[in-house]
Amino acid sequence: MVQTTEAQSPIAAAERLRETLGDGPVAVVTGAGISTDSGIPDYRGPDSPPRTPMTYQQFVGDPAFRRHYWARNHVGWHYMRETHPNGGHRALARLEAAGLVSGVVTQNVDTLHEAAGSHRVIDLHGRFDRVVCLSCGRTISRARLAERLAALNPRFAESVADVEVAPDADAVLASTEGFRVADCEFCGGMLKPDIVYFGENVPKERVLDAYALVDGAESVLVAGSSLTVLSGRRFVKHAAKQDKPVAIVNRGPTRADDLAALKLDTGCTEVLEALTEAYGA
Ligand SMILES: [Zn+2]
Repeated sequence: MVQTTEAQSPIAAAERLRETLGDGPVAVVTGAGISTDSGIPDYRGPDSPPRTPMTYQQFVGDPAFRRHYWARNHVGWHYMRETHPNGGHRALARLEAAGLVSGVVTQNVDTLHEAAGSHRVIDLHGRFDRVVCLSCGRTISRARLAERLAALNPRFAESVADVEVAPDADAVLASTEGFRVADCEFCGGMLKPDIVYFGENVPKERVLDAYALVDGAESVLVAGSSLTVLSGRRFVKHAAKQDKPVAIVNRGPTRADDLAALKLDTGCTEVLEALTEAYGA
């Protein structure tokens, strides 16, 4: 593996990325690190405090926990909706339009790749802007649910002053007692954000989609992921098994450093912007 640090310029880093990735098509795997410049904190980055994630079992098994979750989400999801793609997201969209990038597999639920104009996006861990019924399987928009929650809890959002935003649209509240949760309007079933939680599997068709993207690519670029939990590491392994070069841009170590032909220990935005220059995209 060739490892470098942020000491080199984005232009030099992009040149080396281009040498590794070749003429494409390039399958891209992204994680929280690509969205930090959009103001979404990366709780798994090197400077992050430890955080205990919610599990699927907690959500479905404990009504009080679920109420607390929805109350926090009711506040936090508004913030997520107001975030904007950054130069890194836009660079990947441009590289797709130029025919170099064939698609993005993202571990993020923020939908910022779609907002930036990427067309082939596999939202491995779901999307913050959708809600799924665990009984009938219907999905509805989070905006639609927001209307229902607001009607059920007319003064709740206004009473909350201090909001800390997490990648899954959580917000920290002092008290969530008395918050009223909404059930599926079609069947009365339990609603859950259409997000893959810890203890839950990524839907199989999404995984197969992502493998197919790697199969059709000549190289893989990992941007802003340490490839740890619920990881995209299997796709990197899949590429490495086929002797396809893998390049990683990430602050701090990743769980696939040993599989990478090139590792750049740096943030995403400037390097990806420089990469569009390097490819003339
Ligand atoms: Zn339902």
